[in-house]
Amino acid sequence: MERMESNRMIVLVPLTLQGHISPMMQLGKVLKLKGFSITVFQGQFNQVSPSSQHFPGFQFVTIPESLPESEIETLGPIEFLFKLNKTSEASFKDSIAQLLLQQGNDIACIIYDEFMYFCGAAVEEFKLPSVIFSTTSATHKVCYSVLSKLNAKKFLVDMEDPELQNKVVENLHPLRYKDLPTWGFEHLERMLELCREVVNKRTASAVIINTVSCLENLSLSRLQQDLGVPVYPSGPLHITASLAGPSLMEEDKSCIEWLNNQKPRSVIYISLGSLARMETKEMLEMAWGLSNSNQPFLWVIRPGSILGSDGIESLPEEISKMMSERGYIVKWAPQIEVLGHPAVGGFWSHCGWNSILESIVEGVPMICRPFSGEQKVNAIYIESVWRIGILLQGEVERGGVERAVKRLIMDDEGAGMREKAIGLKEKLKASVRSGGASYNALDELVNYLETERKNAQLRSNS
Ligand code: UDP
Repeated sequence: MERMESNRMIVLVPLTLQGHISPMMQLGKVLKLKGFSITVFQGQFNQVSPSSQHFPGFQFVTIPESLPESEIETLGPIEFLFKLNKTSEASFKDSIAQLLLQQGNDIACIIYDEFMYFCGAAVEEFKLPSVIFSTTSATHKVCYSVLSKLNAKKFLVDMEDPELQNKVVENLHPLRYKDLPTWGFEHLERMLELCREVVNKRTASAVIINTVSCLENLSLSRLQQDLGVPVYPSGPLHITASLAGPSLMEEDKSCIEWLNNQKPRSVIYISLGSLARMETKEMLEMAWGLSNSNQPFLWVIRPGSILGSDGIESLPEEISKMMSERGYIVKWAPQIEVLGHPAVGGFWSHCGWNSILESIVEGVPMICRPFSGEQKVNAIYIESVWRIGILLQGEVERGGVERAVKRLIMDDEGAGMREKAIGLKEKLKASVRSGGASYNALDELVNYLETERKNAQLRSNS
């Protein structure tokens, strides 16, 4: 499958947060196997190590003017992205100018995370082919188009009218206007501005998206219509690349040994991804609910992810005792390996897009507890469209947790969801095999990149 390496260079510009960098690097690995050479431009935080065993032959460049990660904390995610784009634009342009000099103008394409729209300036200046990479669902991208056209003040007024709240978004059934991914953000106006920046500053002539057509056919058609450029749904990239991660935190593999001692399909695996945080009160209710359900659980509790608590060490003694009796706690898990373990019966997830794809690929049904942004959109699809999970809304209390765990792990209802998840798993696996939809989309992408590169060379020679 590996072709001869040529000089065709792809520049990748990931957003170096866990949920974005993994699929981008997986894409890089796939394109390397297709014969491209790969150069990764990264900011100053969460850098993938150039010595990583997973990326032999990759070249890594640091964008000199970028922001430290601590600014996410101080600014919040939306302002952080605005500032990151502003700070990185000029220095990225300079770095690309240097690379073009070294490379004899042989850059086949710049592929950038949709939130790294500062790349557009360099793309325009040097007339380079560029493609956007989207690490979220197609449905979320369509929501961004919808949001980019809204007026914040009018939207807030509209959302006081129950009829408008419950109006279904065109071609996105069952999503209603109130489900659009605006929640969890303090300043709606700034959030909508970011949507406009992402949508309007788009210079790219195609979009790669880490999804699968059998999951999101309708949204993909609508996206294609909205964008008017080729869309390549090429996921799940972690299967095609045979790569989990790269993980930005150290994985605690001891949980696999613990799982080895549990009964098949008995364990509920809990993870809120790399960014979400929960209140101590919610955490305690979850702990009681899990305990009362009598099911074993494996819980990822990242340092700093429980608000108002210094970590599980500072929890009341009876909770710590109960947690250690029935559960196993790690700071970061090898998630894909965990989901593929026969002891895992369900996944309590915040519903980040990567976690969902990973869960479906292992045929694991979910309890959905979304925290912000697109997670609720994803959760609605899990519960109402694919019917492979249970959405928990409102305040979390122990009785609700216990019921949800029992429904998922012990009841026929959960068995039905697992069956559907296994059905989807087969479809996803078929999509990345020769002749499958994602496999074909990747082939078309490679042809597209070749053609774009030739066109760009013709333009620069004329
Ligand atoms: N992840 C992991 N170990 C953990 C928790 C999460 O490897 O203990 C990985 C998970 O496999 C996924 C990513 O972190 O690939 C989280 O991405 P997602 O889109 O689900 O959520 P985000 O972190 O962006 O909110």
